[in-house]
Amino acid sequence: MSKRDYYDVLGATKGASADELKKAYRKKAKELHPDRNADNPEAESQFKEVNEAYEVLKDADKKAAYDRYGHAAFEGGMGGGPRPGGGMHGNADFASAFSDVFDDLFGDFMGGQRGGRQRAARGDDLRYNLRVTLEEAFNGIQKTINVPTSVQCGSCSGSGAEGGAEPVQCPTCSGMGKVRATQGFFTVERTCPTCSGLGQIIKNPCRTCSGSGRVQRDRALSVNIPAGVETGTRIRLGGEGEAGMRGGPPGDLYIFVEVTPHKIFEREGRELHCRVPVSMTVAALGGDIEVPTIDGGRSRVKIPSGSQSGRQMRLRGKGMPGLRQPGHGDMFIELAVETPVNLTSRQKELLKEFESLAEDNNPESTSFFKSVKNFWDSMKG
Ligand SMILES: [Zn+2]
Ligand SMILES: [Zn+2]
Repeated sequence: MSKRDYYDVLGATKGASADELKKAYRKKAKELHPDRNADNPEAESQFKEVNEAYEVLKDADKKAAYDRYGHAAFEGGMGGGPRPGGGMHGNADFASAFSDVFDDLFGDFMGGQRGGRQRAARGDDLRYNLRVTLEEAFNGIQKTINVPTSVQCGSCSGSGAEGGAEPVQCPTCSGMGKVRATQGFFTVERTCPTCSGLGQIIKNPCRTCSGSGRVQRDRALSVNIPAGVETGTRIRLGGEGEAGMRGGPPGDLYIFVEVTPHKIFEREGRELHCRVPVSMTVAALGGDIEVPTIDGGRSRVKIPSGSQSGRQMRLRGKGMPGLRQPGHGDMFIELAVETPVNLTSRQKELLKEFESLAEDNNPESTSFFKSVKNFWDSMKG
């Protein structure tokens, strides 16, 4: 089968300029794109043919040789194929040839916009550390926070161009966002230095945002902190992060909650713990005390007579709400019996009398005395 003329393959005339050839090539490559030709088995080989033709005609030296000698210029062992190392056969070659135009076509297929695929970039996610008190974690709270963030520039509506003018295709990379450089056998692809991969440049950058399309601003956001949050709870606010680059979608805002330590209560999940001082006399004689609760109220607790320091008592349902479970946890109090200080002489007198009574009355009734007596008895027996 004789080879078709390269100009015919591209649908171009022999005197076509480099630009015209490029346009013709793009048009053909697009027509023959596999996505559009699922039911056309010819498309793949035609695609290869188009690619091969353009490989030759875009290269000034090869084009000159082809114009002069036709296909004979590349036949036999001397000239080699259009590419060093082989022709356009096999899947690997097809894949690499395809990747060459894929970047080029991507923008057209995905968004119908010419040029760079990175044009609209999603904004970054933001993290905001929010401190709440234990009371706020108990009740839940509506908080207004100021988030320093970049938002779309109002002067240029985010386009980055002064006066709202459209950005133009980057001349360095022709809108690809990438440039290729051949080093020996390898073709190296780099992000375009002129447009930083955006594929577009702005001739007159917006003075407000210097062309980035975004400006820094504090945004006031109202955040609903649910009851039961703990240190480490993360609340996601979709779309409240940084504005996207040049009209891209915004990122998300994550609120990381930290519950500050409380003066009285220690928290363990839904449980609350606190130490409650009780006077020596209440501990000895028994009585009612009032303890503060996290809801801001007070609870009466009955202290049994003879309570020792360290005794634990439970107040059901007086703990924290669960973030995902219904109901409240319990509150635990630990009694701390206080030794009286700064006694008046009368109080000292009474305590001395108390002590002498305790000794005189019945020293053998103390538990210590009893266990000593039991020990001696067992030795005798
Ligand atoms: Zn602007
Ligand atoms: Zn560029």
